[in-house]
Amino acid sequence: MSTTLSPKHGHPSTSPTGAAAAVDQSILKEVQLPADADNLYTQTVTTMLQAAEIMGLPEHIRLILAQPKNEIIVHFPVRMDNGKYRLFKGYRVQHNNALGPYKGGLRFHPSVHLDDVKSLAFLMTMKCSLVGVPYGGGKGGIKVNPRDHSAAEMERIVRRFTSAIAHNIGPDYDIPAPDVGSNSQHMAWIADTYSFLSEVGGDNPAAVITGKPIEYGGSLGREKATGQGVVNTLVEMLPALSLRPEQCAFSVLGFGNVGSWSAKIFQEKGARLVAAADHTGFIRNDKGIDAADLAEHVGRGGGVANYSKATAITKDEFYKTKVEVFIPAALEQMIQEQEAGMLQCRVVAEGANAPTTPGGERVLASRGIEVLPAILCNAGGVTVSYFEWVQNKSFRSWDLERVDEELNRHMVRAAHRVRDARSHYKCDLRTAAYIAALERIAKAYAARGIFP
Ligand code: GLU
Repeated sequence: MSTTLSPKHGHPSTSPTGAAAAVDQSILKEVQLPADADNLYTQTVTTMLQAAEIMGLPEHIRLILAQPKNEIIVHFPVRMDNGKYRLFKGYRVQHNNALGPYKGGLRFHPSVHLDDVKSLAFLMTMKCSLVGVPYGGGKGGIKVNPRDHSAAEMERIVRRFTSAIAHNIGPDYDIPAPDVGSNSQHMAWIADTYSFLSEVGGDNPAAVITGKPIEYGGSLGREKATGQGVVNTLVEMLPALSLRPEQCAFSVLGFGNVGSWSAKIFQEKGARLVAAADHTGFIRNDKGIDAADLAEHVGRGGGVANYSKATAITKDEFYKTKVEVFIPAALEQMIQEQEAGMLQCRVVAEGANAPTTPGGERVLASRGIEVLPAILCNAGGVTVSYFEWVQNKSFRSWDLERVDEELNRHMVRAAHRVRDARSHYKCDLRTAAYIAALERIAKAYAARGIFP
């Protein structure tokens, strides 16, 4: 079976000059990745291999990173409110721990599947390295739609899943967190369930997970952290495009945690939200939408649709809305060639993980639209997760000013590393971000060696 990526979908170019970095096909073959170029994991590894080629990453590190260390799949029964039982599927993928314990969220979504979780775990390895927190990468999830279940059912699902993976996670080994569909209440149930399994609990079992409620070991500023990091990145990167937040109109795809906080915080910096979209529909108001008011509307249930202070528009109208900044903050692979061709913006700030496909990216590049890559742009969440973990481990709590200040410092430092890699290697920002992340991992492997 050939593993050659078709030019239609593979990253054809990683440099503004159009020069393509050749991908080491022998590695794709050796680790037996699907030849399907639309496969998210194949796409993710291909991007890494292109960056690896440009920077001259040692061959054995490319090979190690091309597959996760562990892929755990569990099936577990849960009693529903009507007395019947259903069997659920859960995942935890531990991609790499060269820099520290595995770290990454748990996604509760009906379309969660292994390749998806593998890609997201891979991206966590890159993200943690780039932003300079001492973690590796992991990701997990449950194939479930939380909207289909009562709070009592969700509690039983989450607790039973926790017990199924309890021996595979730990405060010094693998530390989950929230992701799409999961929230601080779920994290509290996980920490509580884990703490009852005393033989795996350790001194402070709640440190097994981050994104907890403030009352139970959570950190101030964690809930807004990903959105805050998106805005920190924008503030740092916009001047290179001769833009300031006050001059920016912006649109947001996905109005959950990341989308709504990005919108509220960017608005506080003087930017104007003019269009928003989620699973319920697309809305626009050229005079501006109050992001805080829209977030409250969404928080009452439903979604952006039926928001009375904006007009319902079509999907095409949403993408064609003229803005300076577009923030995709929903799921992966949503900005494909078609969407990229419609966008009328200067910058795409990736709040979601892997929202842009290689094909979409190619179209954006050809149209001169800058992409702030997810492993930089949305790293604020895991950075404040790290602060939460440090607070748990040291039995201390930080005030919000300290959290915000340290987050900004991490984001700005990471942005500088990306900019430096870009000017050194003359490549696009995504490749530069991967190179900066890979450099740190390569140094750790050089110091540690490979056992035995
Ligand atoms: N799920 C978030 C992400 O994709 C946060 C992960 C974490 O805090 O560990 O970055």
